[in-house]
Amino acid sequence: MQSCSAARDLQGLPVTDTQFDYDLFVIGAGSGGTRASRVAAAHGARVAVAEEYRVGGTCVIRGCVPKKLLIYGAHFAEDLKDAKRFGWQVPDDCAFSWPTLRDNVMEEVDRINGAYTTTLQNNHVDIIHQRAVVSGPNEVTLADGSVKTAAKILIAVGAHPLTPEFPGSEHGITSNEVFHLDDVPKRVLIAGAGYIANEFAGIFHQFGSHVTLVNRTDVILRGYDESIRDRLLQISMSKGIDFRFNAAFESIEKDSNGCLTVRMSGHEPITVDLVMFATGRLPNTKGLGLETAGVEMDAAGAVIVDEDNKSSCDSIFAVGDVTNRIQLTPVAIREGQAFADTFFGGKPTRVDYANVPAAVFSHPPMAGVGMTESQAKQALGSVKVYTSDFRPMKNVLAGRNERSLYKMICDGETDRVVGIHMIGPDCPEILQSAAVAVKAGLTKADFDATVALHPTMAEELVLMK
Ligand code: NDP
Repeated sequence: MQSCSAARDLQGLPVTDTQFDYDLFVIGAGSGGTRASRVAAAHGARVAVAEEYRVGGTCVIRGCVPKKLLIYGAHFAEDLKDAKRFGWQVPDDCAFSWPTLRDNVMEEVDRINGAYTTTLQNNHVDIIHQRAVVSGPNEVTLADGSVKTAAKILIAVGAHPLTPEFPGSEHGITSNEVFHLDDVPKRVLIAGAGYIANEFAGIFHQFGSHVTLVNRTDVILRGYDESIRDRLLQISMSKGIDFRFNAAFESIEKDSNGCLTVRMSGHEPITVDLVMFATGRLPNTKGLGLETAGVEMDAAGAVIVDEDNKSSCDSIFAVGDVTNRIQLTPVAIREGQAFADTFFGGKPTRVDYANVPAAVFSHPPMAGVGMTESQAKQALGSVKVYTSDFRPMKNVLAGRNERSLYKMICDGETDRVVGIHMIGPDCPEILQSAAVAVKAGLTKADFDATVALHPTMAEELVLMK
């Protein structure tokens, strides 16, 4: 803990109030909480962060990081097949070892967990490895019964997978457990059709599982551009992933061999080795004591905050998934940074939620920024849509009949690009740069004035018709 503080509040006044143990007590050391703790401490505040599990949170420990590494691992299945067309002699019976990949991924998770911890320590943040609950506007109670006081409390506890309740649903796992499986299951049923469902459908399929994706409606990836998600559905089906739509789960029965028979409305029962729920995530506010400080929450349990991340209690703030605004790591990080700069750095900052790019690391991946075609039509009335529907050069030589689709949505009046949506190899990597142009308010003419970088897939962005 630092003994003296140079942290400044919004009025530029010193924030240290020695009547409290800390200037800031953060609950949750995930992406948002870690950033807020580190930056507030760097501004000179006396900061503690309580974490009941592992420093790093969902993204580092059981989300983006291990998932992306599995995606890399899964991609070799197709790359090794395609390699033959590029002249490499690859044996037909290339074997895949799940334990090797799993353990290497977990080693990397441990490394990042260590790096996060070191960063906090280097910034003199007290890390408290216990669950903390709010017990008053300026007070938290730790699992060991001790009480800490703070001028401000930041709730950054994230969210957890929502598991639908029906007979036998306890036999299913979620993304929390999926990284620790003993084996790759032969048959997998994934419940849901959002980010996690489509990403893990691709991962399991590439590792050789038979995958069935079951959703309550007939929409995959609600909120994404329709033509892009239709393309993913078509490619996924042609790869051999099964989809069952408009299905409500009725029961799961486990037999003596561990096989799971899943019954659902409108479809025949299906027997699999693993059921994984990917049916959304709920804020981790249950039992957090927020009501003791009068913190208001919405129906889903998300902390309601204003533009400065302040809750209905003046000394309690919240950032990240627990606020259920945009459930993405970089957004939580920005919220944590803005909170720390505003209240401890004397630099009022608000997060701009417009044109936040996002990607789904499906096989192939999708990415998008800005309005979809239907959102733009609703918001602007007159829109122009440009597309490029092409087979990437690598796929042509590999004999892989998978087409990419890029789509640009422009304001019909001003020519301004209001959305870009893509599906195809590496499109999340490509979209990040295009998102800068959308954020900057560039027009279709600006894109067209940029010379194509040939031969790339990204050049299609400046060649759209
Ligand atoms: P999503 O919100 O993406 O998708 C949820 C899916 O579950 C939808 O298909 C939805 O159906 C269905 N569903 C919702 N509630 C129920 C229910 N009660 N019973 C049955 N089905 C239900 O959630 P995920 O769990 O995939 O991911 C959670 C969040 O995590 C994402 O929204 C995203 O913000 C973040 N994330 C981001 C990633 C990335 O950036 N690449 C990767 C993974 C997660 P329908 O839409 O048809 O109603």
